[in-house]
Amino acid sequence: MPDRKLKIAIAGGGIAGLALAAGLIKKQHLEVRVYESVAAYKDIGAGLALHMNAIKAMMLLGPEVRQAYLDKALTMVEDEEKEMVTEVVLAQGPHKGQLVAELGRAKGRKTVSRADLLEGVLGLLPEGTVEFGKKVKEIEERSDGNDDGGYAVHVTFVDCTEVEADVLIGADGIHSPTRSYLLGADHPATEPKNHDGWQIYRTMVPVKEAVKHINPKWTTTVPILLGPRGHVNCIPLNKNTRLSAGVAVRGKQFLTDGKLDPEWYSDYSEDAQQIVRLVAKDTSASWKAADHDHAPFYSKGQVCIMGDAAHASLPFAGNGAAQALEDAAVLDALFAHVTKPGQIEMALKAYDEVRRPRSQMVVEIARRFGRVYAYAEEEGRMHEDPEKMRKFFGEMGKVTNEFDVKGQNARAVRMFVELSRKGEGIDE
Ligand SMILES: Cc1cc2nc3c(=O)[nH]c(=O)nc-3n(C[C@H](O)[C@H](O)[C@H](O)COP(=O)(O)OP(=O)(O)OC[C@H]3O[C@@H](n4cnc5c(N)ncnc54)[C@H](O)[C@@H]3O)c2cc1C
Repeated sequence: MPDRKLKIAIAGGGIAGLALAAGLIKKQHLEVRVYESVAAYKDIGAGLALHMNAIKAMMLLGPEVRQAYLDKALTMVEDEEKEMVTEVVLAQGPHKGQLVAELGRAKGRKTVSRADLLEGVLGLLPEGTVEFGKKVKEIEERSDGNDDGGYAVHVTFVDCTEVEADVLIGADGIHSPTRSYLLGADHPATEPKNHDGWQIYRTMVPVKEAVKHINPKWTTTVPILLGPRGHVNCIPLNKNTRLSAGVAVRGKQFLTDGKLDPEWYSDYSEDAQQIVRLVAKDTSASWKAADHDHAPFYSKGQVCIMGDAAHASLPFAGNGAAQALEDAAVLDALFAHVTKPGQIEMALKAYDEVRRPRSQMVVEIARRFGRVYAYAEEEGRMHEDPEKMRKFFGEMGKVTNEFDVKGQNARAVRMFVELSRKGEGIDE
């Protein structure tokens, strides 16, 4: 064992990287540094709703991580006692107007802006843990790196500075250079994909303004209104002061010169058409959605990927950040037991074995949600059978949210212990 702490380098200070650092810094045998490319965080996206699996993962990382989230999250509406639900409604076709699912019924439903959450978790880390303006450019591993107490991983940044570490954890987002290093730049799963041609139009308006244009009911609950030319949804934010409204369109054939054309939605319910017209007024916050095809592995040698770098998913199941937090909880549990550089590869192997199947299943579920929302599901015409749809949403919600996160950590640690025993020849 080298006469020094194990040095952990995390590339990317998003939700995945910071949450992991918040867990690891409490372990005396580790030295943790996060290298974040941007100089300062800025808000992106519509606000995150973190489900039960995310909350459990935060608790495993430490009650202070969950508290940082609670301190920054805001209830969707002013009245914290108001019971809210995500209402999934068919907006087109023979069952137009029919409610097919009520998801996540709860009082005081919260969302948190990404920048606020990051600021909260950053506040838990000692000064100097995160270095900003450090964009990873090149990664190199040396097979003899750990000899004589040296480091196996060498990272070069765009500003030409360099660091060495025992392990590099790539939490560097959907366009991750660490993913590219691990899989190879030419690997078919390296670059993000948009197989279904999703285009997401989104606008952010004050609720006071929105109620002049749409059914006020949709500013105090979360509607997802379904149809074949895209689904329409609204999320109230910041105690019902702002409304994020969007239309997610599947396939280029439904776009006019790349623009959202309300004419396409004339056979949708009036409620849905009103929201489409509201969104079409200002589509400046729009973007093309993307996800990852499955990576064949999340780790190799002393380098691994986590969060969106490992398994970016479409936003339709609302579980991307939750999966990043599950990754962080598992890695944190494993590194509690890693005291020597020679154990790192086995810990990362256990992480890969435990987290890859579940996180890739969530990528699939998010793709499937998108297709079901767009009446384009491959098997069964679910939109013609509201009962079948109701069952589908209920089952999928259980898989993503009602998961034994603590058991997952325990399974990873057991696997690491078994691999270590085999590695040390104890079984032979
Ligand atoms: C509209 C929308 C709504 C969503 N809603 C939800 C939701 O309700 N619930 C939920 O659970 N999830 C949701 N998600 C998904 C969630 O936002 C992501 O899964 C999550 O933010 C991923 O975190 P991450 O840290 O892995 O990646 P990121 O947040 O992308 O962070 C990666 C970090 O790495 C940095 N970086 C990039 N390249 C480099 C480099 N070369 N060197 C160093 N640093 C680098 C980036 O600057 C960034 O800070 C939503 C996503 C979208 C788009």
